Amino acid sequence: MSAEKPKILVTGGAGYIGSHAVLALEAAGYPVVILDSLEYGHPELVAQHLQAELIKGETSDRALLDKLFKTHDIGAVMHFAAYIAVGESVQAPAAYYRNNVTGTLTLLEAMLAADVKQFVFSSTCAIYGPPKTVPIPEDHPKNPISPYASSKLMVEEIVKDFTQAYGLSAVVFRYFNAAGADPQGRLGEDHQPETHLIPLVLQAALGRRDNIAMFGTDYDTPDGTCIRDYIHVSDLASAHVLGVEYLAKGGDTTFINLGNGNGFSVREVIETARQVTGEPIVAVERDRRPGDPPRLIGSSEQARNILGWQPQYADLESIIAHAWQWHLHRHGRAA
Ligand code: UDP
Repeated sequence: MSAEKPKILVTGGAGYIGSHAVLALEAAGYPVVILDSLEYGHPELVAQHLQAELIKGETSDRALLDKLFKTHDIGAVMHFAAYIAVGESVQAPAAYYRNNVTGTLTLLEAMLAADVKQFVFSSTCAIYGPPKTVPIPEDHPKNPISPYASSKLMVEEIVKDFTQAYGLSAVVFRYFNAAGADPQGRLGEDHQPETHLIPLVLQAALGRRDNIAMFGTDYDTPDGTCIRDYIHVSDLASAHVLGVEYLAKGGDTTFINLGNGNGFSVREVIETARQVTGEPIVAVERDRRPGDPPRLIGSSEQARNILGWQPQYADLESIIAHAWQWHLHRHGRAA
């Protein structure tokens, strides 16, 4: 007989990556409670497709957290709730440090007060800054170049210190480019405003924008456009479940890249989207976007070695096909 699984608190569980993680946790038999401010999250998707109770609130609300930990017997916390827009963080750093750093500090203190010591945290490959070696290993120098990336690195430092001082155990995942959608079409990406390449390309396919801009076509890459490591959101989610299992078995605090290990260029993404959607998708050449490194690819060896993680949807076709199914269903073609 298998032991009952502990309840997991998922902050930001109504958002893109968080909701896919809840889906994966529930499929693996974990009960889940979601804490989400609903500033950007989608409560209707939680209600339709997830079993979890949804509590509306901020990670900076200590009284709410204390009550939550009192009324729910939480075994581990997965923390996705954060602001994520790099450009906005340059304009409004205070909001990023308040939400991403202070909010997390409050959450961690409330966890420790309730004797909850297992923590899975969403960090980012942006903490590495412009790469010196590709694929990027976890011990690559850290050089964040935006307040968003700095806020994530600050939390990583807090996690290290709390591990040492208070016996916290954490799996910190550094995401590369999350993309795609639930293969069964239940959940997907719906950011307002949208800035990411794949959803914007699919908006062009739906006729919801006239074209897709290619930011820079003169990079030192085979086709002149930037290369990124796109990782299927369901593969990200499965790694999080493995992270919880690793901590439950007594694993030490660890910092792990989550990428495909494969890079795809902007032109390859657009061409694959043309094939998947059957739409022409007009691409226009534009100037480089400031701050974009030419190639970002993560080494995923640690995720495989430490967690036994195996991505199921490493090919670009699957990532774009699942995203396309979601976008068609969620937004439809332009009238
Ligand atoms: N990109 C682009 N046109 C767009 C949006 C993005 O050419 O409308 C490029 C961007 O310059 C980068 C890649 O696509 O090289 C991925 O960008 P995205 O914003 O999706 O993720 P990032 O790598 O910046 O986190």
